Amino acid sequence: NINRSKMPKYPGLERWILVEKMGDGAFSNVYRAKDSTTEYGEVAIKVVRKFEMNSNQRANILKEVQIMRNLDHPNVVKLIDFSESRQYYYIVLELCPGGELFHQIVRLTYFSENLSRHVIRQVAEAIEYLHETSGVVHRDIKPENLLFYPIPHVPSKNPKPQQPGDEDKEDEGEFVPGVGAGGIGKIKLADFGLSKVIWDSQTMTPCGTVGYTAPEIVKDERYSKSVDMWAMGCVLYTLLCGFPPFYDESIQVLTEKVARGQYTFLSPWWDDISKSAQDLISHLLTVDPEKRFTIKEFLAHPWIQGTDEETTAAA
Ligand code: ADP
Ligand code: MG
Repeated sequence: NINRSKMPKYPGLERWILVEKMGDGAFSNVYRAKDSTTEYGEVAIKVVRKFEMNSNQRANILKEVQIMRNLDHPNVVKLIDFSESRQYYYIVLELCPGGELFHQIVRLTYFSENLSRHVIRQVAEAIEYLHETSGVVHRDIKPENLLFYPIPHVPSKNPKPQQPGDEDKEDEGEFVPGVGAGGIGKIKLADFGLSKVIWDSQTMTPCGTVGYTAPEIVKDERYSKSVDMWAMGCVLYTLLCGFPPFYDESIQVLTEKVARGQYTFLSPWWDDISKSAQDLISHLLTVDPEKRFTIKEFLAHPWIQGTDEETTAAA
């Protein structure tokens, strides 16, 4: 029983029946919508208010769409259609019915190691595809831009004994990837608004004239990839304990902490989290981008593989 009269009408968007607002940004509203033809079921539509933007901001939207057009991976939100009217851009996207991972962290307080692995592995698959196949860096990886497909909740057969501080924590369910994973199925990376092409996936060369590329451009490519790896470290840290590695009320102090890589595995929250997970995070939250893990090193780590002693002993 949806009151459709409350949904705004947009010129040129008649094909799609807006159902509800799912999110918003500085210049956009995101709606859940249904296809009036039978080709697609439900979709998400990002309606961007062109008239509020300057030419630079408009160009950025077109760039976001152009990048998404060339992407095709199970862990990346698919672009279905793009059109515009005089006042709006309409970006029609594959719908992720679960919404933001961010809200699930709030709901569950923090994720078990198994659930965290289930999530971050999929993020890593998306990043590997972007970095190694598409020549794209995302540059805005965070729980608000990680969307998911929900799966029905399967309660634990043997609920874990509660730990101090767990009183309000919801049982995330018996862990069977894709079944009892805290209701979280497939993860999709969204929001390519800050993303950048670093090399041409057609010619497998850095963007620009081949042979004339300066070393700092080649280095720049490596650095920009490592930006995504740092962000993945922040996401993994947050999944495991429920709060981010760097925080301060003062932006100045926070910036200084990040610049120095000043974070800790805070007791008591980290006491029962495996040393292997902490080892992986420390290789991502490394200030020197040359020493920081690449996506290949990340994927090969025992904690991600699920082959470290602590994980195999627990299983
Ligand atoms: P912005 O650049 O404004 O952050 P996003 O593309 O991140 O724009 O979209 C804003 C929000 O809209 C997301 O954080 C999410 O809550 C929601 N959203 C965006 N795309 C989808 C989608 N495909 N499925 C479900 N929700 C989405
Ligand atoms: Mg966003």
